[in-house]
Amino acid sequence: MELSIHALLQNRKIIVIAAVVLSLILLVGTSYLLFPEVRDGQPPVLKIEGIQENDRFYDAYEIRFSAEDKETSLASAEILVNNEQVYSSEISDTSFDGMAQILTADLPEGAHTLAVRVHDRALFSHKTEWSARFWIDRTPPKIETKMIAANIKQGDTLALYFNADEQLREPAVIFKTMKYPVDVVDEAEYIYVALIPVSVFSTVKKEPVLCQFSDVAGNRVEENLLVSVTAGTFEKERIEVPSGKVAIFSDKNAERRKTEGRIIAEAISTHSTLKFWYDKFIRPSEGVVSSSFASQRVYSTGSVASCHKGMDIANKTGTPIYAANYGKVIIAREFLVYGNTVIIDHGQGIVTLYGHMDYLVVQEGEYVTRNQQIGVMGDTGLATGPHLHWELRINGREANPVQWEETNFEHPWKTAF
Ligand SMILES: [Zn+2]
Repeated sequence: MELSIHALLQNRKIIVIAAVVLSLILLVGTSYLLFPEVRDGQPPVLKIEGIQENDRFYDAYEIRFSAEDKETSLASAEILVNNEQVYSSEISDTSFDGMAQILTADLPEGAHTLAVRVHDRALFSHKTEWSARFWIDRTPPKIETKMIAANIKQGDTLALYFNADEQLREPAVIFKTMKYPVDVVDEAEYIYVALIPVSVFSTVKKEPVLCQFSDVAGNRVEENLLVSVTAGTFEKERIEVPSGKVAIFSDKNAERRKTEGRIIAEAISTHSTLKFWYDKFIRPSEGVVSSSFASQRVYSTGSVASCHKGMDIANKTGTPIYAANYGKVIIAREFLVYGNTVIIDHGQGIVTLYGHMDYLVVQEGEYVTRNQQIGVMGDTGLATGPHLHWELRINGREANPVQWEETNFEHPWKTAF
């Protein structure tokens, strides 16, 4: 009897335990089904915009973030600068777009930390944190400027070189109301160049050059330079168009002249950020200079008066013609006016054109070295006899090529190798 009572008690104990376990399972199960706070196993998703690791600022800046928690919804968001809360927001949505102005007036120059934290409404709240280092920089860049040259002849190239003590953002040079591109020539040393072809028709006078710089943080600095534009000497000449070539000017060819003019204009305006050329340019062919750069021309056909945008070198048909510097052949084909033509992109806005060749020995897309043969002299197109018509262009504008034969336009801080 005692035994059965004992067994009974034992059974009751088991039943109670079983009941407790069962209700616990039921409770957990039901709450799992009923309450997302229990179910939520995922932390919120956080995305940051407007700032990256190691960004630099000189003033207040804006940060935008978006957070999402589909399971329980978001509970709060906060932003901390150097571990101190500068922004907080209670949230009861599944998604949230936040924006905050980070004030920096009290922060000293140097490195600081920024953190964004969002929490969800899970039973044991999840936290997602993003953090990055940022810099306060209120020191404008220091820039050493050098130029070739303060006295510049009409038609020559004015070269401005800048050596900064830090990386610059979108530097600009303005000369006679035109903004010129500034290229990076040495990324590690923060060396930049602006090449300005001074027009043949520029007024002879002193002209200001405005240089504008900004560092990565946004600190701005300006420099005003003064250059003297001096008179260039340009010949006047009358071109007798041979009777066999008068047709080039005919109305029948107007459309073709226009199309080819567009193709050439586009090619000579090429501006590749890569620099292929170095050191001086060579004269591409042996011969006599039969027409110099910027000679003022009148044609016997009467219809056209122009300024010679290049230099003519005359010699026998078949005289070899070489690339003036390293570059990429972007045009190698026949045109109505220029005849068999090669156009080479030397990078950073420098382009050379070689016209009237008898035939070509390079193809479009080919890379050439300085002194590599590209064709032979001829009189194709609008030519009065065998000669090479050679042009040097800077961002599409003609420049005196003789100066590029005589002057090394490499930046002045370059160490010899
Ligand atoms: Zn010419």
